[in-house]
Amino acid sequence: MFELLSKDPSSKARRGRLTTGHGVVETPAYMPVGTQGSVKAISSRELIELEAQIVLGNTYHLFVRPGLEVIRKFGGLHRFMNWDGPILTDSGGYQIFSLAKLRKITEEGAHFQNHIDGSAAFISPEIAMEIQATLGSDIAMVLDECPPWPCEYDYAARSLEMTLRWAKRCRDWKEENAERSEPDGQTPNAESRMKQMVFGIVQGATFEELRRTSAQTLAAMDFDGYAIGGVSVGEPEPEMMLAAEWSEPHLPENKPRYAMGLGTPPQMIELIARGVDMFDCVLPTRLARTAAAFTAGGTLNLKNAEFTFQTGPVEEGCACEACRGYSRAYIRHLLKSEEILGLRLLSIHNLHFYLDLMKRARRAIEDGTFSDFRARFVSGYRRRADVAANA
Ligand SMILES: [Zn+2]
Repeated sequence: MFELLSKDPSSKARRGRLTTGHGVVETPAYMPVGTQGSVKAISSRELIELEAQIVLGNTYHLFVRPGLEVIRKFGGLHRFMNWDGPILTDSGGYQIFSLAKLRKITEEGAHFQNHIDGSAAFISPEIAMEIQATLGSDIAMVLDECPPWPCEYDYAARSLEMTLRWAKRCRDWKEENAERSEPDGQTPNAESRMKQMVFGIVQGATFEELRRTSAQTLAAMDFDGYAIGGVSVGEPEPEMMLAAEWSEPHLPENKPRYAMGLGTPPQMIELIARGVDMFDCVLPTRLARTAAAFTAGGTLNLKNAEFTFQTGPVEEGCACEACRGYSRAYIRHLLKSEEILGLRLLSIHNLHFYLDLMKRARRAIEDGTFSDFRARFVSGYRRRADVAANA
C-alpha cells in the first residue's frame, strides 16, 4: 500500500506513494482539514482544482453533529460531503481531551460531555474504530491520549502505557471486524471498510526514552502507518523536531509517517527532512480568516494599508485562482468589507501554497535537489518574515 520511490541522499526526506481505497496519495503530502466535513469555505470541485489528494475529517465533530445516523444514511463520509478522494479520519481523542468537557478517563475509555449541547457520551478504542468504520475513511487513527505540554515524566509514562494498550485494542478490533457488515444488514461501506488502513500514534511527550518505547512497541504491532502525535501542542519548535527525530529511527521504513496537526511551511519542510511523509494543518484556512496570506517570504496581512493600491496578485507567479484573477488591492477591499469572497479567495491561495509546497518538495526529492530547496525555502521564508515583523 506504501511504496518508497526515492530517498534524499542528504537528509531523511522520502518520496513515496500511498495507495488507498479512493486513490493514490503522492508523498510528502499535505492534507487540507475538513473539520466539520468541509474544508472551510471550499467546495469539492475547488479541492480537485487545487489538486488536493486527500482530506482529513474530524471524527469528534462529525460524531457530535450531524451524528452517525445521518452519515450512515449516506453510506459514509465520502458521499455525504461529495468527496470521492481519500479521507483520513482522526480518532476523536484529541478533541475530546481539548474541546469537550472530559468527565472521566479510565482504562476502558473516556467519558465526556460534548461542547455543543453537553450530552454525555463515552468513547473507547473499540468505539473509536467503529465510528471511523461507519465514516468509511480510507485511513483511521487509533484512539490515544495526547498529554499536554509541558508534562511531567511520570504522567507521560503512565499515559503512554495506556495509549499503547489502547493501540493494541484498536488493532485487535480491526482484525476481528475487517469484513464485518453493518448491524442492520446494510453494507454501504463494505468496500472502503475492507481497505481501511489504521495508523498507530507515537506519543511520549518530550522524553526520548518514551518516544523510542512508543515507536518500537507500535512498530511491533504492524500498523499500516505511523503518526507522530503530541506535537504542535504549544511546545517550542526544537521540541517538535526532537519528537520526530526520536521516533523516526524506530519506525519501519516501508510505512508512511504522519506528523499530526502542524505546521508552518518551514516546519513542514524541516520535518520532511526528518523523514515525515504526511501533514494536516488548519493554518491555511484559519489564517485566511485573519486576512493572512502565505507567501515564499512569510505571511502578509492583507488588511494592511500598504496593499490599498497594489494591482499585483497576492504572490507573483502563483498559479492559484485568486492570484490569476484578482489583485491585492481588491482582495484587501473584500476583506475590509467582510465580503465572503475575500475569505474564499484567500483560503484558495493559502491551500494552494501548502499543496504546491509539497509538490515542489516531491520534485526536489526526485531530482536530488532537496537540500538546496530546503535551505533556500527556509531561509527565504524566515528572512523576509523577520523583515516584515521588524518593519
Ligand atoms: Zn495564489
